Amino acid sequence: MTSALRGELRLDESMARHVSWHAGGTVDRAYLPADLDDLAVFLRSLPSEEPVHFVGLGSNLLVRDGGLRGTVVFTHWALRDVALASAPLTDGAIDVAAGVASPKVARFAALHDLVGAEFLAGIPGTIGGALAMNAGCYGGETWDIVSRVTTIDHAGALHERTPAEYRIGYRTVVKRCQQIAGTSGASAVRTRTGLAEWFVSARFSLPRGDGDRSRRQVKALLAKRIASQPLGEPNAGSVFRNPPGDHAARLIEACGLKGRSIGGAVISTKHSNFIVNTGDASARDIEALIELAHAEVKAKFGVELEHEVRILGEGVST
Ligand SMILES: Cc1cc2nc3c(=O)[nH]c(=O)nc-3n(C[C@H](O)[C@H](O)[C@H](O)COP(=O)(O)OP(=O)(O)OC[C@H]3O[C@@H](n4cnc5c(N)ncnc54)[C@H](O)[C@@H]3O)c2cc1C
Repeated sequence: MTSALRGELRLDESMARHVSWHAGGTVDRAYLPADLDDLAVFLRSLPSEEPVHFVGLGSNLLVRDGGLRGTVVFTHWALRDVALASAPLTDGAIDVAAGVASPKVARFAALHDLVGAEFLAGIPGTIGGALAMNAGCYGGETWDIVSRVTTIDHAGALHERTPAEYRIGYRTVVKRCQQIAGTSGASAVRTRTGLAEWFVSARFSLPRGDGDRSRRQVKALLAKRIASQPLGEPNAGSVFRNPPGDHAARLIEACGLKGRSIGGAVISTKHSNFIVNTGDASARDIEALIELAHAEVKAKFGVELEHEVRILGEGVST
């Protein structure tokens, strides 16, 4: 490591402290960059074979109890700028760094009478995570409003990219002509040249409109969420993607799994596609419940549910 680094390096950092499930193992190294320049210097200082994972607010992530090899970079520590971009009078644009919380962008847009970002209020992660997941709700998806992104690679170099350079789908974003970051795999795409890239910022294009109406929509959306999701207990949102034409929650519930528990993990009685940690769940408890729901839905309906949550790291041998 170079002495020019200004961020904080932590060894054997507990990932349970950084994921919304509050469960799971440690990561070998965690880096909290001071700013974007510092992040670039840090990435350059790593051996080229070092596995790197970018993590936002960990609201879609489980790290197995045996821990994660390599280095985690926490974006929300430093990449926190959000600002109006200069844009034609008819349209608005916002530049947002990857570590900014998505709900903050919804509020910022409404405050400046820019509309179309209201759905981000319901997604309790960072913009980096929203870009990686194409997060969305109530009819809106992150990449619907992206006009360009900036990425950083393993050598610390920045790249300006357009949406056309990605294949974008329901909760999936893949760099074209490059190897897929699997749903249970690393956070970045690996390029043909062997370089990985992560999101460091995005420009959102949003039409001008009625900010008061946007704020009312945000309020209504949040009220709906409070009524339908177990927000008082640690969880990671929807565990499975909805299969075409159906809802994972309906299928899980129809298998009689509502309220089923393994160790400290329980399939929520409020929303069957959510698994909550009642206090002392291990990552293994959570993953075992995910596997159980997957197997029972497959057996009863022949539907192969796909993970929406990302699972990383090594299990503990028993
Ligand atoms: C109560 C609750 C409700 C939720 N509701 C929704 C919803 O309605 N719709 C929805 O889509 N999701 C929902 N989620 C899931 C989650 O909030 C989103 O997927 C969110 O976008 C994840 O952001 P994050 O910063 O927490 O990402 P993390 O959980 O930290 O990471 C998720 C993935 O993105 C990768 N990643 C993170 N940052 C970067 C980056 N800068 N560059 C490249 N890769 C990166 C990570 O490596 C990981 O693979 C919900 C979660 C909770 C807890």
